[in-house]
Amino acid sequence: MIIAVDGPTASGKGTIAQALAEHFGLPHLDTGLLYRAVGRQVAINDGDADDPAQALAACDFPDELLDDPALRSEETGGLASRVSVHPAVRQALFERQRAFATQPEGAVLDGRDIGTVIAPEAEVKLYVTASVQERARRRWLEMTGREVEISLDAIEQDIAKRDARDIGRADAPLRAAPDALVFDTSHFDRDQAIAEAIAAVEAALA
Ligand code: C5P
Repeated sequence: MIIAVDGPTASGKGTIAQALAEHFGLPHLDTGLLYRAVGRQVAINDGDADDPAQALAACDFPDELLDDPALRSEETGGLASRVSVHPAVRQALFERQRAFATQPEGAVLDGRDIGTVIAPEAEVKLYVTASVQERARRRWLEMTGREVEISLDAIEQDIAKRDARDIGRADAPLRAAPDALVFDTSHFDRDQAIAEAIAAVEAALA
């Protein structure tokens, strides 16, 4: 069984995907990490994330980079969003994601184009979303918890910019697959979102 979980940044899709993987005993891949690694490798190379050739060269990042804590930073998230617009980058990361999705034991993948491009045959597709204000509030709480000084306004603007880039790109734009369950987490806390998502997947499988 393949479960595809897509949605914009800070929607809760990663938390939900991880919980679904644990609940159904499936391996989980956070595909955003791959794009983040490419973005980080561009920075290490002192390259330009907007240049398709330099972004493609960064797809050869070493596997250890996937464990680098810098991958989680806002800066790397911004670079990831820039490298991900290049079709050659998406193509270079396709096989790795496809192989994970089609492993015999099944899988849960989260990202932006899992239900539309990577695994359109997924048995269950969730499109997890939340309002920009709520996503910014969550990100702000998480960052101030890590003692990063940043205003709520700056985060809201950054999220809106990344949404526009992800939704507006020509290749594999962020959108719900026609057969996806749209799941708005704006009014759920973490535990409610997980419980509701598990219930929704179980209902879809029944
Ligand atoms: O999910 P996360 O915030 O880690 O993703 C970082 C960036 O990588 C996103 O803003 C998006 O541009 C890109 N991405 C993508 N396709 C995916 C996963 C992530 O384009 N499947």
